[in-house]
Amino acid sequence: MKRVFGKGAHKCRRCGRSGPVYTRYGLYLCRRCFREMAPRLGFKKYQ
Ligand SMILES: [Zn+2]
Repeated sequence: MKRVFGKGAHKCRRCGRSGPVYTRYGLYLCRRCFREMAPRLGFKKYQ
């Protein structure tokens, strides 16, 4: 399967996995990493 996720197919900058990646704020983190990093970055909302 060589399907690409169309626009916005990025890789997580932290764990390197491709998939749903948060490109907001220029973080380029997958959901999981984002949730781990969010508190450190001041996004307490996402805890
Ligand atoms: Zn990740």
